[in-house]
Amino acid sequence: MSRVALVTGGTRGIGAAISVALKEAGYKVGANYGGNDEAAKSFSEASGIPSFKWDVGDFEACKDGVAQVEAELGPIEILVNNAGITRDGTLHRMSEENWHSVIRTNLDSLFNMTRHVIEGMRGRGFGRIISISSINGQKGQFGQANYAAAKAGCIGFTKTVAQENANKGITANVVAPGYIGTEMVRAVPEEVLNSKILPLIPVGRLGEPEEIARCVVFLAGDESGYVTGSTLSINGGQYMA
Ligand code: NDP
Repeated sequence: MSRVALVTGGTRGIGAAISVALKEAGYKVGANYGGNDEAAKSFSEASGIPSFKWDVGDFEACKDGVAQVEAELGPIEILVNNAGITRDGTLHRMSEENWHSVIRTNLDSLFNMTRHVIEGMRGRGFGRIISISSINGQKGQFGQANYAAAKAGCIGFTKTVAQENANKGITANVVAPGYIGTEMVRAVPEEVLNSKILPLIPVGRLGEPEEIARCVVFLAGDESGYVTGSTLSINGGQYMA
């Protein structure tokens, strides 16, 4: 029987690449999303992967969402916490709303989602929790106090989940991408991309979503049980943590 994997924010960008790569690796995959019905519909039609809409920042919605996915696909054995947003601005101008919305979607979501799958994983003696952080959580980034705080929190959260659940066959790991060519990054003006970002990347280009997905598939595998509490940096050499 194929293991069941759930990818939050799994219908667009990096998450979509992860969903497809897991499916190609033989997993039964569900993809969560937050609001873009049109993107989710075309993703599901093209990939054959069912999509499920709920807000990962809402604890009760996550409980219901997990229950729905498990009723349709079976117990979730691999959770990929990928959904994320940016609301950039320097701290001295940042609104309370932009602080809280990023913490809620990018960090509270890790608790909201993991809490609802962890007991089942412990009971079954197997689980993989893979959370997508960011290079900017590792090194900080001008204009991203909210985002960097959430993404750094992701690393502390994961190390703790790894320690608490290692004796139950559950691993927890972080993937920390650098600049990947998704809508999130393509929203940066091309001139800024060419003059300020690309020169910082030794490999000399943006990463591809599939390059992140490949590492998630590796961490999800039954054979990766000795890798836990780690942060895998995938950033073209931009930051060597
Ligand atoms: P995209 O903006 O392309 O896609 C984001 C996905 O998350 C969408 O599916 C979106 O759903 C979903 N989402 C957003 N908010 C919520 C919510 N509240 N509840 C449920 N789903 C939600 O992002 P990327 O693919 O670029 O980024 C994916 C992850 O990788 C994020 O965590 C990001 O921080 C991280 N990352 C990205 C980098 C990059 O260079 N792109 C670099 C480093 C880290 P919908 O379609 O409905 O909006």
